[in-house]
Amino acid sequence: MPQDCFLCAARSYDQPLCAACRAELPAQLAPGCPICALPTPSGAVCGHCLVAPPAFDATRAAFDYGFPIDVLVQALKYRHRLSLAAFFARAIGELKGDFDLIVPMPLHARRLAERGFNQAVEIARPLAKSSGVPMVLAGVARVRDTPSQASLGRAARVSNMRAAFACELKLDRRSVLVIDDVMTTGASLDALARCLKAQGARRVENCVVARTPAAL
Ligand SMILES: [Zn+2]
Ligand SMILES: [Zn+2]
Repeated sequence: MPQDCFLCAARSYDQPLCAACRAELPAQLAPGCPICALPTPSGAVCGHCLVAPPAFDATRAAFDYGFPIDVLVQALKYRHRLSLAAFFARAIGELKGDFDLIVPMPLHARRLAERGFNQAVEIARPLAKSSGVPMVLAGVARVRDTPSQASLGRAARVSNMRAAFACELKLDRRSVLVIDDVMTTGASLDALARCLKAQGARRVENCVVARTPAAL
């Protein structure tokens, strides 16, 4: 279906962005912390991960969270522009690593009912298809609709996230890739990874569309 570019309204044919806007997208090229993808000098492990290592083992981000990625993420989430999910999946590209299953960040049932879809599922779906790694939706759920994390300090975020997820998967020594749209504090991803590891996962990696510069 022909459509106009999300950013400049030039003709973009079957793409959500025109060629000129695609060429100007910011890529996360600077080396970051291998564990949480926070920008660090020469890709060293960041201070937060050294002092209090999160439950996940690695994080990869396709973009820094800033203009125009923020606009596109919001358009997918709140304006139901589902073509952007496939676009983000292409930006993430080939999965680097050996994964047994893909788990999209679960959305609480109330939010799912409001929005009608889980953006993380829509981003994960084409990745699962192209990689052949199965995407798992049943058996892992967000059971607490947690308040916004943004205004909370680290300790408060951790307690806020406690028991936010429930997982019934048997993950005996499995390697899990978690997909999410935006990583901000990393508290949700940390809590989910903790839950997956409690079920036996050997390794949990995150792959996100965009990483904010905020500390973990
Ligand atoms: Zn454009
Ligand atoms: Zn880190």
